[in-house]
Amino acid sequence: MPELSGKCLCGNISFNADTEIMRAANCHCTDCRGATGAAYATLLTVDEEALNISGAPKAYKHKAESGADLEKLFCPDCGSQMFARNSNRPNTLSIRAGVLDQTSEVRPTFNVFLSSKIESTPVDPDLDGFDRMPG
Ligand SMILES: [Zn+2]
Ligand SMILES: [Zn+2]
Repeated sequence: MPELSGKCLCGNISFNADTEIMRAANCHCTDCRGATGAAYATLLTVDEEALNISGAPKAYKHKAESGADLEKLFCPDCGSQMFARNSNRPNTLSIRAGVLDQTSEVRPTFNVFLSSKIESTPVDPDLDGFDRMPG
């Protein structure tokens, strides 16, 4: 039984991973907001090697403000954003929290890019918060 699993809205792309979530963050940057269409993205970082993807996600590549190469992987049929790769974080991949089956595993510990968050978005004061991306 894989520890983590999930699928896109139409089900053409699914994944499983027998691994732990290394870190979980809410990102309020304009790229994540634009990509997801949501007020912020919750990103779950996992070991890329441990992730098995079924189906063929489409990739959208762009540059981050930091200069890093970013790749966003989504379902070409239903448009669900599923994974993201960042060249500054090799061998890892982040899963968008909304496509994960194990919702109890989604426990963000910090917020990033609070400088560009939508003003009305509530933020848990008990979590660490950063105006930009730390490290
Ligand atoms: Zn789909
Ligand atoms: Zn972001």
